[in-house]
Amino acid sequence: MAALAEQAGRDLDGAPAQEIVAWAAEQFGTKWCVASSMADAVLPHLASQAAPGVDVVFLDTGYHFAETIGTRDAVAATLPVNLLTILPKRTVAEQDAEFGPRLYERDPDLCCAMRKVEPLASALEPYYAWASGLRRDEAATRADAGVIEWDARRNMVKINPIANWTDEDVEKYIADNGILVNPLLFDGYGSVGCAPCTRRLLDGEDGRAGRWAGLNKTECGLHG
Ligand code: SF4
Repeated sequence: MAALAEQAGRDLDGAPAQEIVAWAAEQFGTKWCVASSMADAVLPHLASQAAPGVDVVFLDTGYHFAETIGTRDAVAATLPVNLLTILPKRTVAEQDAEFGPRLYERDPDLCCAMRKVEPLASALEPYYAWASGLRRDEAATRADAGVIEWDARRNMVKINPIANWTDEDVEKYIADNGILVNPLLFDGYGSVGCAPCTRRLLDGEDGRAGRWAGLNKTECGLHG
């Protein structure tokens, strides 16, 4: 499977995103899914065009903005996808009782591990492959992302169909296809995450600068 992913990654680098999701649908049938943060519905839309009824995984950390939950509900209601909401083992109240309140301030890596990384790992177990909307130009840490890769940590194929897209490509796809967008992105936010760890962008900041601002943390650990 790793060799297949690496070969396909080379063959399809530069291919349209539609071709990449079509490859995933053909290779994996119902054994692949899409992970979405509900910043927008670009990836669920793309995937559902190639694979109507495709599973879309949303990690409900318990800390989301209401706008993000609303975007998830709108995606489930309007696209031909099977929306799966994944919950952490502990509610926020249970985590607060065990680890103290506002763990995200004291140990955001542990909070992300319990509320994002572990739940995603469990959610992905039934599949051979998963797709994300990760893009190379979002951050230096993402500059090397392939369109299809071997996810050695999870022992499965990782598909990044829009890895090559720029902001302009995303905007064009949204405009051309009437894609749902999280209202936070029209309200000063550059990237959508948990409410306690996401703030509006300041003038001139990059899109992900509002995530874990002031902390030495740029990723939640889902893509490493
Ligand atoms: S982004 Fe913040 S609140 Fe959300 S899981 Fe990570 S540390 Fe916790």
